[in-house]
Amino acid sequence: AMERYASLRELPAVARCGTEIGLYMNAGLMADLPSLPSSGAEGVGLFRTELQFLIRNQMPRRAELSALYSRVMDAAGDKRVTFRTLDIGSDKVLSYMKPNDEPNPAMGWRAIRVGLDKPGVLRMQLQALIRAAAGRPLTVMFPFIAHPSEFRDARAEFDKAMERERILGHVLPSQTEVGAMLETPSLAFAPQSFFEEVDFMSIGGNDLKQFFFAADRENERVRRRYDTLDVSFLDFLQMIADKCRAAGTPLSFCGEDAGRPLEALCFAALGFPMLSMRPASIGPVKHLLRSVDLKEVRAEIDRARASGAQSVRAPLRQWLSRAGW
Ligand code: PEP
Ligand code: MG
Repeated sequence: AMERYASLRELPAVARCGTEIGLYMNAGLMADLPSLPSSGAEGVGLFRTELQFLIRNQMPRRAELSALYSRVMDAAGDKRVTFRTLDIGSDKVLSYMKPNDEPNPAMGWRAIRVGLDKPGVLRMQLQALIRAAAGRPLTVMFPFIAHPSEFRDARAEFDKAMERERILGHVLPSQTEVGAMLETPSLAFAPQSFFEEVDFMSIGGNDLKQFFFAADRENERVRRRYDTLDVSFLDFLQMIADKCRAAGTPLSFCGEDAGRPLEALCFAALGFPMLSMRPASIGPVKHLLRSVDLKEVRAEIDRARASGAQSVRAPLRQWLSRAGW
């Protein structure tokens, strides 16, 4: 399927109105990196770091992790890789950590909550990332930030790790960016000053949608019940995009919905400047984005909203089919 879009590989995702959308890929293994040139992605927008922890039966060592992160950056060359720190708990359970018997693991002790409560692993991982970058830019994001204080505490860990490396005489990253994943509705309502404080914001759409509709992403009976293109969810995303834009903060949407062409089109029209998705989705999304005027898409979304439609999916599909899609 990727071959069909090979001719688009070197072309940017510029819509007919002139707006360029940055298309990035999601990854989690060294084996994913060859897709970076072949997919036409501008970089890795989400590198999930859980796999290295999940595939072992003991905690990986810092040197091992550092070597792996360094190889990932080597393979990406001058393209940016956004490393997401460990998101353990919920659906991702480590065999060598005491299992937590939690009634609602998705809302339980997971991700940055574990990282801040038991900072040993987070510190080790941050040190491994900083060492791996050595002279290169480093981009890190923290998962599941539900409250500004969690981001501040996590960033303080990052700053301490940098300081420790500096004292030890290691070569520091040439530049650092530290961002927050917005995966719980609460963070969207953080004060505007918080949106200015983060270096960038990334929407974890899989989690954000499950908490917005209170519909478990792992539960087959409910997970497809609510439409991502429901006007309620789009209005919510719009508010986030507006806050980021007013703050001048780069915003991306990672999560499976970014790789669905109709969804990608809507997110772009709402003002999301970057989308991160499975490598195989980049071609189809780019193909569609390059053929539309986002102002027209936006007008179509607004029209559907004004008419009282619950979802913009059907109206947008009809609009696209009238345009020959
Ligand atoms: C998300 O929640 O959308 C996300 C990107 O992270 P994960 O799917 O790993 O929870
Ligand atoms: Mg998530």
